[in-house]
Order: sequence, then C-alpha cells, then structure tokens
Amino acid sequence: MHEPRPHPTGWIEVVVGPMYSGKTEELIRRLRRAQIARQRVEIFKPAIDVRYGADHLVSHSESRIPSQLVATANDILPLAGEAQVIGIDEGQFLGPDLPKVADRLAEDGKRVIVAGLDQDYRGQPFEPMPQLLAIAEYITKTLAICVVCGAPASRTQRTRPEHGRVVVGGAGLYEARCRRCHTIPDETPAGSGAGGSTPGQNATETA
Ligand SMILES: [Zn+2]
Repeated sequence: MHEPRPHPTGWIEVVVGPMYSGKTEELIRRLRRAQIARQRVEIFKPAIDVRYGADHLVSHSESRIPSQLVATANDILPLAGEAQVIGIDEGQFLGPDLPKVADRLAEDGKRVIVAGLDQDYRGQPFEPMPQLLAIAEYITKTLAICVVCGAPASRTQRTRPEHGRVVVGGAGLYEARCRRCHTIPDETPAGSGAGGSTPGQNATETA
C-alpha cells in the first residue's frame, strides 16, 4: 500500500470496505503518522455511532484516537479550523453533503481522509460513499475474510432480520462475507424502512 507524497494542495483519501476489514484501524494509522509529524489533525465521526464511546475513534482491535461527534457532514466545516489533516470515520452515516464538504476542505489545502462502508448489508452502494470515491485522489479498498469460507470478503452480512439500512451494531449483528456466501436477509415487504431509504431516516439501535 502506498502513502501519498507531500503535496502543496489538499486532497481526498478514501478507505472503504466491509465491516471487520480494518478501515478504522487504517484511518487511525494514517492520522497517527500525521500527528507524529506534528501536523494539526481534527477527527470526526457521526453521532449515530457511539458504540465505543463518544470521544474517540476505536477500531475493532482497540486502537483509539480522540475524535469529535457531528450530526452531519456540514457540521465539520466550522470545526475544521486550522487543521492540516481531517479524519472522518463512518462516512456513510454523514449524509449526502459529505462529498461537497470533503471537496471544500481539500480546496482549502487540507488532507481529508474518510473511512466508511462502500456497500450496505444488501451489497448495494452506500451513499454518499460512491460519490466521494468518484472525487477522491486516493482510494484504498480493504477486504475482510469471509467467516463462512475464508475467501477475501467485500460484503457485510446482516445476520438477523432488522428493518432499515442503518442499524448500528457490532459483533453478532454483522459479519464479513465474500460475494458467494453473502445473502440478503428475508425482510417483510410491508416495512417502510426497507429498500431505498437514506441514512438517518430510520430508527437506529445499538447492539
Ligand atoms: Zn465465502
């Protein structure tokens, strides 16, 4: 995996993949390196995801780094200040303005690093990550290992029926699977939350 070289203008880096592929760990690794170089770093994550505490990014392997909670991508702009590096985790929960906000920050000369899910539990592109990938300078896809067959896993399997696209949960509700072992859970079609819903419109629950 290559590291971007120092550059006089800003840019956007995106780290995407399924759950348990090490996205947050990779984000924390890049942010730490910037901090070691004494760059000013500001880190944000969506208020929806407080699984491991509100004031830190924490990876599944327990790496952690202090962060601020924001409701949507637009909340990041006034908080970015003089930061040279902006880290954003769980980008898929920050709403449709995330690409625009990341673009604005990069135009301001900042290095913007966003991690998030590229697909939802059905294997469909998870907005606004596709739009963000389109405008990013650097893209890293992380893969997990399929818990069923051991192949490289690009998808997130929901292991029990829940309504809606946004159901925050950790171990137990989701697992990584390859495209052959991934299945879409049976859902009652009457549920209004299934299908074309957008992040933030559904009730969420924490596992
Ligand atoms: Zn598999």
